[in-house]
Amino acid sequence: MKKLDINTIRQDFPILKREIYNKPLVYLDNAATTQKPWSVIKKIEEAYTNINANIHRGVHFLSQEATNAHEAARKTVQQFINARSSNEIIFTRGTTEAINLVASSFCRAYCKPGDEIIVSAMEHHSNIVPWQLQEEISGIKLKVIPFDENGDLKLNELEKLISSKTKLISVTHISNVLGTINPIKKIIETAHAHNIPVLIDAAQSVQHIPIDVQQLDCDFLVFSSHKIYGPTGIGVLYGKENLLDKLPPYQGGGEMIASVTFEKTTYNELPFKFEAGTPDYVGSTALAEALRYVTALGLDNIKAYEDELLHYTMEQLMQIEGMRIFGTSSNKSSVVSFSVKDIHHYDMGMLLDRLGIAIRTGHHCAQPLMKALGVEGTARASLAFYNTKEEIDVLKAGIERVVKMF
Ligand code: PLP
Repeated sequence: MKKLDINTIRQDFPILKREIYNKPLVYLDNAATTQKPWSVIKKIEEAYTNINANIHRGVHFLSQEATNAHEAARKTVQQFINARSSNEIIFTRGTTEAINLVASSFCRAYCKPGDEIIVSAMEHHSNIVPWQLQEEISGIKLKVIPFDENGDLKLNELEKLISSKTKLISVTHISNVLGTINPIKKIIETAHAHNIPVLIDAAQSVQHIPIDVQQLDCDFLVFSSHKIYGPTGIGVLYGKENLLDKLPPYQGGGEMIASVTFEKTTYNELPFKFEAGTPDYVGSTALAEALRYVTALGLDNIKAYEDELLHYTMEQLMQIEGMRIFGTSSNKSSVVSFSVKDIHHYDMGMLLDRLGIAIRTGHHCAQPLMKALGVEGTARASLAFYNTKEEIDVLKAGIERVVKMF
């Protein structure tokens, strides 16, 4: 384990030097999106400056160079999550599109009316609504694993929810509201004992915890580049090759076909079958750069530092009178949702913003979770490895100032 030098690391992120209302920016909205290091920003510039060309079909030099960069990025992603083959890495627009892809193709291939998909009560809307669309299209039914007062999933309920009609379990690795790190290995083992495949939403985990898809034995895993210090507009669907092979395409268009006639069209092989249209080759190369950046810091080192910072944040915020923290699992990642007395989360967010502190407020795209907590919304501070204890002190002082105003 190596201790991270946070002050040096902060120099890599130009935006962290910004001032907001003449105050140093304290960026604590990392669960929504992360800031980008110079290396990622430069990669985007370099791609458009030196190698821009449409990929795969071109015979000319630049097209081949751009193709090589895109396919090398796929290999980088493969290595980052330890997939068996780069055929198992599909570039999507993000987590949301990846889940929509699986929901649409999987239900088309395997589900009949009355079949069931299990999700949890702490899912982001992007792991609820795509399945609800399939309730309308394919006639499937959603079943929901509840959570307890600490924000831990009630795993004993999972066995009760599984039936002969269960076709897939789709759960988040880490809750974007509670911060709970779900016991996904256990969920996968339970599901596999019933021959049920599992999709892991790693949108909030891939940037905090080392992930090895072979060791986890998950069937699908999805994440967004912008939450792991990469660009917006690109993300990843990992799927076991034998499963992806059997799924029908999600979108039709260029690149995903083998041949097209008006009589019969055949589809390309993996991974291209699921990448219709011009791929985001600039995004993929910049994402690969972000993964290299994170790998160089070391995810184990990142986790150790973020755990320390989370511990400090919880300790400091709990000292504030009237503080309520949502999500107190013993296995928690660096997301702290809170409310103080009856101060509206929106007022809290607006007033902290005036102090240069960026947090998120509202339902965090998890309205069923809010309903289960009995609140309309929360304030949420979410941490990254470039945050410091001094910034947490600024947050604490800011919250105390807001409390005094009410
Ligand atoms: N899943 C979880 C747990 C999330 O936190 C988010 C975004 O906050 C998403 C899915 C959706 O990610 P995106 O909007 O990048 O597709």
